[in-house]
Order: sequence, then C-alpha cells, then structure tokens
Amino acid sequence: MSTATENVRKLPGDLEFLTPLCPLCTEYTNSYPDGLQCDRCGIAWDSDGTNPERLDPDAEQCPSLYRPHHRCSHPGHTDEPEYRCWGDVGHDSKHYNPDSLYEWTTSGQTGEASS
Ligand SMILES: [Zn+2]
Ligand SMILES: [Zn+2]
Repeated sequence: MSTATENVRKLPGDLEFLTPLCPLCTEYTNSYPDGLQCDRCGIAWDSDGTNPERLDPDAEQCPSLYRPHHRCSHPGHTDEPEYRCWGDVGHDSKHYNPDSLYEWTTSGQTGEASS
C-alpha cells in the first residue's frame, strides 16, 4: 500500500540537447562529429555555429519562384515581390526562402503558399 509519504518518483530520462535552428529553413540542424549541418538546406557549420559552407558548392539553385497573392488595393502596392527558392535544384522538401514567411509546395516555376 502506498502512502503520500512514500518515495514513488522515478528519475526522468536523459536530456535531449537541441541543436540551433537553421537560419534558412528554421528547422533544427543536425549534429555531426565535425559540426552542425542542415541536411534540408545542404549547409554545414562548425560546431560553434560559424563558418557556414555549402555541402555541395556546385549545386544549382532551385528555379521555383513564389509570388505572394497581394489582394491589397492601395495604389502603389502593386509591386509584388518574388521569392526564389533557396534550395538546391531537385531538393525533395518544400521550397523556401528565408526572406519569405511562406513555404510553397508546387514544383513548377511559380506557386502559391500552402498556408
Ligand atoms: Zn535549413
Ligand atoms: Zn525549391
């Protein structure tokens, strides 16, 4: 029979160290023996987070563009920015651009945000 004075607490599991967020895709980076890496973006950093390098320096940039739908009717607000995906050509994740809050999912040249 257990009473309120008995020690029934177990110890928690091991801690999980979170890696820094990738500044491009804002996902957690992966930790490797020689540093941190975003597999999604193909960028590697030293373990102290400096010295970013492309895993494949010759990779071509994904050609996908995103034009946000701008329904604002103010005059002068017609210049719609275009965001070019920062992924490598043929990447298998969503398109993304660090300047854009949007992600787009279409594989064509242009697309609309999925959310
Ligand atoms: Zn990333
Ligand atoms: Zn892309």
